Amino acid sequence: MVDTTVTVYGAHWCPDCQRSKKFLGEQFVPFKWVDIEQDKEGERFVIQKNSGKRIIPTIVFGDGSLLVEPSNAELAKKLGLKTEARKAYYDLIIVGAGPAGLTAAIYASREGADTLLLERSGLGGQAGITVGVDNFPGFPEGIGGQDFAARVTQQARRFGVEILQAVDVERMHMKEGYHEIYTSDGKHYHAHAVLLATGASYRRLGVPGEDDYIGAGIHFCATCDGPFYKGARDIVVVGGGNSAVEEGLHLTNFSEKVTLLVRGHELTASQIAIDKVKESRSRVEVKYNVIVDAFEGQDAKLRTVRYHHKDSGLTEEIHPAAAFIFVGQVPNTSFVKEYVEMDKSGFVLTGHDLTHDDMHAHYARPFETSVPGIFVAGDARHGSTKQIASAVGEGAAAAISIREFLRGT
Ligand SMILES: Cc1cc2nc3c(=O)[nH]c(=O)nc-3n(C[C@H](O)[C@H](O)[C@H](O)COP(=O)(O)OP(=O)(O)OC[C@H]3O[C@@H](n4cnc5c(N)ncnc54)[C@H](O)[C@@H]3O)c2cc1C
Repeated sequence: MVDTTVTVYGAHWCPDCQRSKKFLGEQFVPFKWVDIEQDKEGERFVIQKNSGKRIIPTIVFGDGSLLVEPSNAELAKKLGLKTEARKAYYDLIIVGAGPAGLTAAIYASREGADTLLLERSGLGGQAGITVGVDNFPGFPEGIGGQDFAARVTQQARRFGVEILQAVDVERMHMKEGYHEIYTSDGKHYHAHAVLLATGASYRRLGVPGEDDYIGAGIHFCATCDGPFYKGARDIVVVGGGNSAVEEGLHLTNFSEKVTLLVRGHELTASQIAIDKVKESRSRVEVKYNVIVDAFEGQDAKLRTVRYHHKDSGLTEEIHPAAAFIFVGQVPNTSFVKEYVEMDKSGFVLTGHDLTHDDMHAHYARPFETSVPGIFVAGDARHGSTKQIASAVGEGAAAAISIREFLRGT
């Protein structure tokens, strides 16, 4: 990277400013934010630098250079990110540099496969944006997500993996024995085998304060973060489906009480899970027909969840130790929806879950999709367990399966 002292001049209502801030954040580039609506000196600076015009975002870098309304590609270039591959043909292209993709890249490259790894945002995937990882074996004191991502990336580079960043894969199809991958910057690459390691994103509520307290009281994974709240008095769970109820029950292992805030008038989980809630002897309280309005905190920590009752409009607040949001996960697989078989939520099917072609389902290698030569590992795979350790394990196993496939081509 060229420098780390960056100042972004913009305004809260400006979508291009938000996009630029998101991009810098994903690349782990620290920056100072100046809202020119609040900061008159900042506004004067922008007008002076843009010949009298108030153009935002105006981004100033440590070397004194300036970018005005840059695209993500221009920002990537300025940060010195590699966005263009050396070649057009590879043995293996991996889409997604989260734990699954990076691990597969280490295995494949170490065994001599010519491997290209394509990532649209920060290296490390969801693990890279996790404040602390407490349950990955080998780190008895836990490890920061960014540190973990940097270590795995360094290991992949050591084995010669070619990694491109700020490159979004938009579509793919088969051409003359190769899979062709098309990226957002208008380029395309070819490979005998492709690994989809694109992960999934937790659905958010989109209410004020939610983004501000992620990792500081707001969480999306009870297995990952529940143990941090051992001995808590109350934990809030938002959602009424299977994962909300099951994760809520799991959280009673740590908290005296769990309060479920449910949008609908009933739980939509399995009957077994609902029965367990009834048997929990009030350790799980369910509030129906309520909508979360905002999260508020103090000293950079969540303190209050505000919500209202749908019918009466009555507003209330609750002060839990933490809030866990389980309103669904969206797999990052839309770019292959016409190509490989998926379940109804968009998670990619493998092995015996495949339905379209019994012969292929029978002979498919581990982690192979409905299309021979295309594999999937990690959170994007139907049936995966949405943990870093399992994504790493799937990445390794998929790479070994890919090795067998490549030997046959
Ligand atoms: C806040 C938070 C905390 C967590 N804490 C823990 C924890 O403590 N312990 C634990 O075990 N698990 C934790 N998890 C879950 C864990 O991070 C995931 O299970 C794991 O990262 C999944 O790895 P993956 O490689 O399958 O996918 P991801 O980590 O999601 O990586 C997928 C990558 O693919 C990229 N991508 C997607 N689409 C495209 C495309 N079209 N083109 C190019 N690139 C693309 C994405 O940008 C992303 O970098 C947490 C998750 C979150 C969000």
